[in-house]
Amino acid sequence: MTSPAPVVLVFLDPAFPAGRLADASQPQLLATDQGATRGDGIFESMLAVGGDVRKLQAHLDRLGGSAETLDLVIPAQEQWRAAIATGVAQHRTQHPARSSAEDEVVVKLVATRGPEGADSPTCWVQVSPVGALGRRQREAGIDVILLDRGYDSDVAERAPWLLLGAKTLSYAVNMAALRHAHKQGADDVIFLSTDGRVLEGPTSTVLLAHVETADDGAGARTIRRLITPQLDTGILPGTSQGALFTAAKAAGWELGYGPLEPQDLLDADAVWLISSIRLLAPVNHIDGKEIGTPALQKQLTAELNALYAGVQ
Ligand code: PLP
Repeated sequence: MTSPAPVVLVFLDPAFPAGRLADASQPQLLATDQGATRGDGIFESMLAVGGDVRKLQAHLDRLGGSAETLDLVIPAQEQWRAAIATGVAQHRTQHPARSSAEDEVVVKLVATRGPEGADSPTCWVQVSPVGALGRRQREAGIDVILLDRGYDSDVAERAPWLLLGAKTLSYAVNMAALRHAHKQGADDVIFLSTDGRVLEGPTSTVLLAHVETADDGAGARTIRRLITPQLDTGILPGTSQGALFTAAKAAGWELGYGPLEPQDLLDADAVWLISSIRLLAPVNHIDGKEIGTPALQKQLTAELNALYAGVQ
């Protein structure tokens, strides 16, 4: 007999103010739920370290923004907070971490349009372990290929029904892009628009860094610049990128927001894909070409990891 997956489920339910615990090894959704039949819903993935969810407010705010984009009415933030607290506490009791280094869990929030014919969303919190692959990629870095996303960088404004910028459950395309990369021997993907702009990864935000030495007469000083693609190109606003930018600015980094082209990635001193669970994954190669120098990439990654460690 296989041991049950270490997953805790908590449904948001008006009859249970702290959320309703459910058995993750048993079916819990109606087969007519539009999250399942149409991918019609939204989600968030957050990291909890030592029982504390990082950037919780930013994730709840983005969940609210996604809900608004989809005209989905979801429970208030206090209800989500209560269910998250129940789920994380329950997971710590049922599946305690073996060491403080492994005291991390993924907290996923899901809201679907609910069963066909009903007019109430289905909402739940899922707490599960962090996969070993993400942890390895933080250390070892990743090889990435560039793939055409199939739309131009103006489409978000022109066609709001595409729901770009919302974190919807319709991630089949993103997962297909990752499978395509794996078949090519790569780890991940950076999407390009049809007009040649750098967009994002299927589950991450693109960051690049330049380091320059400037001498304005008062002695040489090092300028560190952190750049991410423009948000109005239909990409998801990353909570990790946002938090890291705030911390980097306070530490004296200069910040920039695209537009970026593939050559900017190849010319960078370092490139990362950043997201809430995997955190900063250094990009070693793009389409087989080495990015920056390993020594500088290592140093910048350590610096940014230290800054991000201070993010709540
Ligand atoms: N872009 C996409 C398409 C994503 O799916 C994600 C996260 O899953 C991100 C960016 C990064 O967002 P965050 O830093 O909030 O995890």
